[in-house]
Order: sequence, then C-alpha cells, then structure tokens
Amino acid sequence: MTAGNDHAPTVLVIYTGGTLGMVPGPEGLVPGQDIEARLHRALAALPPVRRAGLPAFEVLETEPPIDSSGATPHHWQALAALVARYHRGHVGIVILHGTDTLAWTASSLAFQLLGIDRPVILTGAMTPLEAEGSDAVANVEDALRFAVTPRLQEVAVCFAGKLLRGCRSRKWRTREADAFTSPNQPLLGERVDDEIVLYPGRGLVDYQRGAPRFELADYAMLDAGGVVRLTLWPGIQAWQLEAWLREDRVRGAMLEVWGGGNLPDDSALAGALARASGEGKLLAALSQCPHGPVAFGDYAAGQGLTDAGVLSADDMTPEATFTKLVHLLALPLSESERRRRFLTPLAGER
Ligand code: ASP
Repeated sequence: MTAGNDHAPTVLVIYTGGTLGMVPGPEGLVPGQDIEARLHRALAALPPVRRAGLPAFEVLETEPPIDSSGATPHHWQALAALVARYHRGHVGIVILHGTDTLAWTASSLAFQLLGIDRPVILTGAMTPLEAEGSDAVANVEDALRFAVTPRLQEVAVCFAGKLLRGCRSRKWRTREADAFTSPNQPLLGERVDDEIVLYPGRGLVDYQRGAPRFELADYAMLDAGGVVRLTLWPGIQAWQLEAWLREDRVRGAMLEVWGGGNLPDDSALAGALARASGEGKLLAALSQCPHGPVAFGDYAAGQGLTDAGVLSADDMTPEATFTKLVHLLALPLSESERRRRFLTPLAGER
C-alpha cells in the first residue's frame, strides 16, 4: 500500500482483480497489475469538476489479482480480514472485484463484517479500464463518492449508477453495463445527473448499535466443499439428492425449490432431506423464482420441506443464502442457534 496524505480522510481501495483491471493476454483477458497508477491515469481524464469531487484514496492489491470466477470461501475470508484490519484508518473502503462472483463476495462480507460502521463498496466493470468507452471509470468514481458518505454503514454494491445492498445484489446481465440488480430490495442510492444520493430509511444505519461486531470465522472446512447448491428439476430422484447429502463432508445445502416453496410429491425425496436434517446438516430452501419469498405452508406440496426440517430462506438471494450457510457453519454455534440465526435478519438480507 502506498502512503497517503496523513491528514486527509482517505478511502482504501482494495483491488482483487476482475475485468476492470484486466489486460489482453495470449488466450483472452487476464488480471493486470499496477492498478494504482492506472486508476490515477484514468481518473485524471475526467472533467475537472468531477475530478474535484473525488476523495483521496490509497490502494492495496491482493496477490495475485484473480478472475473472480475462481473465488472461493477462502477469498471471502481473506478479504473480510483485510477490511477488518484496515477499516479504522479510512473513512470507507472500495473493493474492485470481478463481476462474475461479486454478489457472492458482497453477501459473504455482509455476514462477516456485521455492524460495519462505514461504507464498504464493491464495484467492478464490464470492460477494462483502458477500453474505449469503458464503464470502469464511472463505476470507480461513483464508488469513491459513496465511500465518503457517513450515513452509509454497510456492505454495498455500486454499479452503473446504482447502489444496492450487498447481500441483496445479484449479477443479472452478462453483457450490459447495467449488470446488477437487487430483486427483493429497493436501491439504497443512485447517481442522479452528477449527484450521488442515498435514499433515506433504506440503509442499515439506523439499525446499527454500538461498535462493529465482526464475525471472522475460519472458512477452511467450508472451502473444501462443506455447502452444496441443489436446484430441483422436473423428475429429480431421491437417489440423486442422496448422492450429495449422504456425503460426510457436506454440512449444509441450499435447495432451490419451486415457486412459493414447493417440492415434488415424492416421499422418498422428503425422506432424503429429513435424513440429512436428522444428521445435523443445515438445509435451507429458496425459490427458483428471482422475485418474492417462499412460504412452505401455502400448498400441500410444501409440507415435505417443513416436515424435513428445511429452513425457509424467505426472499433471500441464492448468494446470500449460500454465504449465510457457510458463515453460520463456520461459527462455533449449537445447531439450534444456527437455525435461529438463519431465520433472523442479520444484515438486511431477508
Ligand atoms: N470474469 C470476470 C471476473 O469476474 C468478469 C468481470 O469482471 O466482469 O473476474
């Protein structure tokens, strides 16, 4: 990390890789280095009024920068540790991240950095910083400006002029610059013309109590495949579910079920789930529909989930559900406490 101005409040920019910082390689784009000089060069090309609105920042590069398609729970843990270590010396943190798994990292950080008392903003870009007409500069500019907003006290995603709650965000489009959405939660803020605005009453600031209560657990066991993601399809068989759930290394599972929370009417399927729950595995179900919650009681077809001890993920995203399971399984908690916390909103995720 380079030395900053000792007196000015600075933002810490953590560069982890992703398209934003990529450069052409022999087989396609690869993560590039030397991001600090490249950022300064790109931001220097902004019109003077916009440049004047930018806060001072320092840059930390994680080694090596990666394509986020290769990120794992280990990366989420390492990133949370960095924020925990450096946040006090900075008014806010901006994390430059690949877009592919950005929403997963944002969700995980929200659970690890519970009660964060300043902005932690993830952003990236659909095209590299140096590409003609890149979205990178505007995304970095907006993220830096939101990072000095004291009323923003949570992990957020800033992309294409929108500010989303981190643990509600999803990558939604593969090509457009407006790549992220938060299906069950309105925007926390937005760029309107050249101003950035935070919408009152939508952030976590009013729910924060006292000092941050970070939960930095060891994710090593979960990094080795402790949680699995199982999506139902018409005709799924109990033996197929069991092939995943019987495995001792699997300690939790996220199930993507039908509509408002339904399972096929097959007692063998419900039996496979009940057996896994009975062995102490943490199972949670959410809908395959991107909008709206699950409620297992509405149809008889949902009863199997309740009977099998499967927890409702309500209207959580798959990213938040999965990272919350990883997080709770990594903490030294009793099974009943894990179940209780899963059903409780911890960071505005449900
Ligand atoms: N594959 C890239 C990544 O996630 C995509 C991006 O950043 O847009 O690192």
